[in-house]
Amino acid sequence: MKSKAIAELLKEHNIRPSYPRVKIYEYLLNNRIHPTVDEIYNTLKPDLYTLSKTTVYNTLDLFVENNLALLLTIDENNTRYDIKTDNHGHFKCRICNQVYDFEFSNYDIQFDSLENFEIEDEQLYLTGVCEHCKKEQKK
Ligand SMILES: [Zn+2]
Ligand SMILES: [Zn+2]
Repeated sequence: MKSKAIAELLKEHNIRPSYPRVKIYEYLLNNRIHPTVDEIYNTLKPDLYTLSKTTVYNTLDLFVENNLALLLTIDENNTRYDIKTDNHGHFKCRICNQVYDFEFSNYDIQFDSLENFEIEDEQLYLTGVCEHCKKEQKK
């Protein structure tokens, strides 16, 4: 996705596409590692001399509010961020602490007792041991 397309996307979501905002979105798009604010800040800072951590925080807040990004609370030590896509869940490995994306289909839970509630956020979190760590354990 080119910077121009990202700017258009931000506009469609009522976000003024300032240069740092476009760069932060681009970073999330190209780095599907569920980065923390610090990771985003440290990577972009050398190219964005005027960038502050507050700008990164505020921009991510704005993306989350406008359905462009997900705030992940799967890692109790760090808030992580991710691009929002449909049918995309997260698996956190308790050994290497990596958060993996996975796609799923036929995820259809009936929330019987929440009939009269309005659900605003729905995320699928799984935890366990990833395939790489499982291999290591067998050695
Ligand atoms: Zn692992
Ligand atoms: Zn993800």
